[in-house]
Amino acid sequence: ASLLQIERMEPQIGAFLQIDREGALARAEEVEQGIRSGKYQGPFAGVPAAVKDNICTKGMETTCASRILSGFYPPYDACAVEKLKEAGIIILGKTNMDEFAMGSTTETSARKVTKNPWNTGHVPGGSSGGSCAAVAADECFIALGSDTGGSIRQPSSFCGVTGIKPTYGTVSRYGLIAYASSLDQIGPIGKDVADCARMLSLLAGQDRRDSTSLKRETLDFEEDLAGDIRGMKVGIPKEYLDEGIDPEVRDALKKTMEILKERGASVEEFSLGMTEYVIPSYYIIASAEASSNLARFDGVKYGYRSPHADSLHEMYKMTRSEGFGTEVKRRIFLGSFVLSSGYYDAYYLKALKARAVIKEAFDRAFAAYDVLLGPAAPQTAPKIGESLSDPLQMYLGDLYTAAVNLAGLPAISVPCTVSKAGLPIGIQLIGDCLQEKKIIRAAAAFE
Ligand code: GLN
Repeated sequence: ASLLQIERMEPQIGAFLQIDREGALARAEEVEQGIRSGKYQGPFAGVPAAVKDNICTKGMETTCASRILSGFYPPYDACAVEKLKEAGIIILGKTNMDEFAMGSTTETSARKVTKNPWNTGHVPGGSSGGSCAAVAADECFIALGSDTGGSIRQPSSFCGVTGIKPTYGTVSRYGLIAYASSLDQIGPIGKDVADCARMLSLLAGQDRRDSTSLKRETLDFEEDLAGDIRGMKVGIPKEYLDEGIDPEVRDALKKTMEILKERGASVEEFSLGMTEYVIPSYYIIASAEASSNLARFDGVKYGYRSPHADSLHEMYKMTRSEGFGTEVKRRIFLGSFVLSSGYYDAYYLKALKARAVIKEAFDRAFAAYDVLLGPAAPQTAPKIGESLSDPLQMYLGDLYTAAVNLAGLPAISVPCTVSKAGLPIGIQLIGDCLQEKKIIRAAAAFE
């Protein structure tokens, strides 16, 4: 049924970069037998899923939607993909994204444009736009995304689906092609809170191949899914209601506040502070790490190699010039600049200090509140072609999501309402480190 739906929807939506029809059908048969023999048990056995194209899949091309990785067939599965397979999930294919996850609309993809299933004149958001569009278009039931500064939560909001960015270290990054290693996390995108919570239980766990992965108690959210939030304290940062946010998004937040109150939570506005540091420090740190992580793509080991060079040095230069797109190059320039001698202290080190200040502001907030409520994005999905000409404006759209990554916190994006123009609006619930249970409980109450 999923493959039929893909056939029907893909010409309009373009969520996938690659669909493994034969593989999926063969695998479905194998899983069916495995369910009978007891090899596959549990709620995910036989569920069709999609995987973002920056997550390695053995023998299945993995390109980060970049020309430079075209023809890269990883010799191994990412830890998260291993876990999907062990649970009997059927991987249908790889989804489109902003190139190397740098962007907010999926338009920086070197491969294709993905459209928002709610209105194909609009973008699905990004960078996990393909995964969110695939779930929204009923092409699959669950998908993997990655979130460095909002890439699961913002497209989930734009596509009317649910997505979780876990506490940093919860899901192994082994096999996730790095954008900014200190911010990146893999997380689930699904139809509702229950699907995402169960998928997160499946994905979480320490992995010796990722030294930043955490040993956590088994994550069991079943009792939280009842959504009992009586006595829960919810804080909403005043700064999040200020100008710069679309009035319809602000109304959605107010509506959410009312619902949470009705269900027995207390909701209060407070001043979080530090919001002016978020975008500058995020873009300095993310670009700095990216410039280092992307240094390995030089035409020697992976994917594309320029055929036009006649010396080794030329080959490096031309491969990178031809292989990377404009947004990726912009980040490499910015990152190399802020790390260069003479500027390191003024920019990179300062951004690290601002990051500490942001973390402290959240620590203060979580001394008073169980969860924080905010928008996932300042507006609904923009029209296709509207955002690329003004990168700074696009960066500003990450205000509500990027702080969460800088502080390593968990957050969930849940659909709230639909705008007058017919586009979904999601809200975001943010928890303290390791407090996924609380945000899932609040989200379940709200849903
Ligand atoms: N829009 C942000 C960026 O371009 C976030 C992307 C992400 O989370 N991968 O960096």
